[in-house]
Amino acid sequence: VNKIVIVGGVGGGATVAAQIRRNDPDSEIHIIERYGYISFANCGMPYYLGGEITDRKRVIYSENDFAEKYNISIETYAEVTHIEREKKTVFFEKNNKPYEIDYDTLILSPGARAIKPDLVGIASNTFTLRTIEDMDQIETFISDEHPKTAAIIGGGFIGLEMLENLHKRGIHCSLVDHSAHVMKRLDPDMASHVDAHIKEKGVDLYLNDKLESYSNNGATLHLQSGKTIQADMTLMAIGITPNIELAENAGLELGETGAIKVNEVMQTNDPAIYALGDAVEEVDFITKKTAHVALAWPAHRQAFVIASHLNGEKIQRDGILGSSIFRLFDLTVAITGQNSSALDELNIPFEAVMSSGYSHAGYYPGSEKLWMKIVFDPNSGRLLGGSVIGAKGADKRMAVLATAIKGKLTVDDLTDLELGYNPIYSGSKDAVNILGYKAREQWKKINE
Ligand code: FAD
Repeated sequence: VNKIVIVGGVGGGATVAAQIRRNDPDSEIHIIERYGYISFANCGMPYYLGGEITDRKRVIYSENDFAEKYNISIETYAEVTHIEREKKTVFFEKNNKPYEIDYDTLILSPGARAIKPDLVGIASNTFTLRTIEDMDQIETFISDEHPKTAAIIGGGFIGLEMLENLHKRGIHCSLVDHSAHVMKRLDPDMASHVDAHIKEKGVDLYLNDKLESYSNNGATLHLQSGKTIQADMTLMAIGITPNIELAENAGLELGETGAIKVNEVMQTNDPAIYALGDAVEEVDFITKKTAHVALAWPAHRQAFVIASHLNGEKIQRDGILGSSIFRLFDLTVAITGQNSSALDELNIPFEAVMSSGYSHAGYYPGSEKLWMKIVFDPNSGRLLGGSVIGAKGADKRMAVLATAIKGKLTVDDLTDLELGYNPIYSGSKDAVNILGYKAREQWKKINE
């Protein structure tokens, strides 16, 4: 019997366990998880904190149900301290007692941790959001202390999701970001719509600025610009660090991004040890360079790749797009592939086209504006990335663009996509077709 030990039991760990079990009723599978919950919905936590998901149990998968459904042994509150590869043994601590378990196959999905710099004056009213324990702490603080004001540091997707949800609870929010605009995966001309929407909602937006220290028991925030913010609570969402220490100490190779290096079937340089999720680096579909993409879709896909490989099948892949989507108040923000700034930095030639369309026919009530931008290769016309922002239908358009990129379609192909017309859902020419026509003109001109 193959004995499989998995470190980390959430996004990647629980998924890979379930995927392996689908093909393989016989292997012994063990999950070892540092904290108290396995297979919980990280991505649902902001919406529990905002009050849209009212039942805490909905974001948590019961450990017993999971163990029983998949016939898996689970240790929670158990921290893996080191790995001895020669002995194929994992060492962990639970209730301050040391344990060890041997393996035939080891799978690492230790995720990443939220960055929380130890700034002068930082106090217990500064939070990060990564685990259910973090979520519970934030919820307890809000229900017990009734904060009236909050500062969110970092305008990435977690910061923006929490901005929306704290605002929803009637807390006046300030958002601080060190860049010239929020959401650095958007080009500035697209991000400006997001910045404007944030201000429209009464949020105090501090761009090109940085939190440097606190005073007044964590209630006064001092920014680099000299400005101060008063906030009853702070959410720090300035990024994550992959948890690579276990792998590094075991002599496993790290990649260029600092995350764990894996091959196309997710094996580390030790073929008995696989790794996945936020702790690993992948290849970018467009640039073919290494990239650290900390999102749920790659973790799920990688879990399938590992389970298939253990079952004797090699899944062919050609890289990650990093498609992501979130809601911010009335808008949906959806991004796939590369943007102009990233391509510029990499000296990859591209053309960019922007267009604004509508979610559906203007004559049918409720039509909403969509802002769209794509970047494409000036020679081949192939799509390299796109972003869509709007109150309605942005998800669908981004999904079409993401599919087009993976299908290696050109801007000309976008004009020929039959996406289904009825005034409730689209125009007879969909917003994606219109964008395609515009880009096609530009492409033709360059190649005349
Ligand atoms: P995790 O799910 O974090 O699991 C890693 C686990 O390993 C942790 O529970 C950790 O305790 C455990 N661990 C670490 N070290 C050890 C050790 N030494 N011993 C034992 N256990 C250990 N992605 C999206 O695509 N869409 C979204 O909408 C989205 N929303 C998100 C919202 C929030 C608030 C957060 C925090 C993340 C969100 N993500 C989203 C990202 C997504 O959740 C992650 O990409 C995914 O969970 C990665 O899975 P993972 O297994 O690598 O890490």
